[in-house]
Amino acid sequence: MYIGNHLSASKGYAAMGKMAVALGANTFAFFTRNPRGGKAKEIVPADVEKFLKLQKEQQFGKLVAHAPYTMNLCAAKEDIRQFSKNMIADDLKRMEYTPGNYYNFHPGSHVGQGAEEGIRLIAEALNEVLTTGMTTTVLLETMAGKGSEVGRNFEELRAIIDRVKLQDKVGVCFDTCHVWDGGYDIVNHLDEVLEEFDRVIGLNRLYAVHFNDSMNACGAHKDRHACIGEGCIGLEGMKRVSTHPLLSGKPFILETPNDDEGYKREIALVRSWTE
Ligand code: FE
Ligand code: FE
Ligand code: ZN
Repeated sequence: MYIGNHLSASKGYAAMGKMAVALGANTFAFFTRNPRGGKAKEIVPADVEKFLKLQKEQQFGKLVAHAPYTMNLCAAKEDIRQFSKNMIADDLKRMEYTPGNYYNFHPGSHVGQGAEEGIRLIAEALNEVLTTGMTTTVLLETMAGKGSEVGRNFEELRAIIDRVKLQDKVGVCFDTCHVWDGGYDIVNHLDEVLEEFDRVIGLNRLYAVHFNDSMNACGAHKDRHACIGEGCIGLEGMKRVSTHPLLSGKPFILETPNDDEGYKREIALVRSWTE
């Protein structure tokens, strides 16, 4: 299986690749720029070169880059929307240094404009920044539905995809904590939830998994991640997700509250379930 966690991008790609190997991972996630700011680190071609070699040697799965939290394609203010569009356009350009990976983002918060308007603005932005030549697949993340988050259910994600012109460039990242918090009972009804995903969005659009336990009950709309087995989804529930045949082969990314040792342990644990 492909499993990894979020790594710090501050020392560049080669350092992330090395770190992933040290943790027992064979994929990883990273913020394309300061997650709460917006500044991007300069890309050093020699560093990328080194990483691409390692990626091949180690047979890494697809990387799942993460957009910064400050990006909101459906903000109410035009200048924030423009800022966000510039950010995603620039990120997608940078992603081409490491071709063929995934770029995951939170669809956005409609901040009182209503989900429908949010959906329209997000799709409109994607139609401006997606290009036929790009090798990256952009992933909409399933959201917990806190505040005015768009993507609180499968229907909202489908509605965004429906409005996108270059549909082969978009997919979905299934965040177990968010889906659970959003009201999908993956503990008692995993098969049904995946069936529903298939019916509404299509499992062919499910490219990656954010593998997190949740501190809160199903339907709580809170979004507080817990370590694997320490939350309300629990060890058995998490195990069932990671071993589900319909999810096998996808990159699983841990976004659990851990230090390096904790990630190493969780990666080994999940591997022991599936390998
Ligand atoms: Fe996320
Ligand atoms: Fe996530
Ligand atoms: Zn979350």
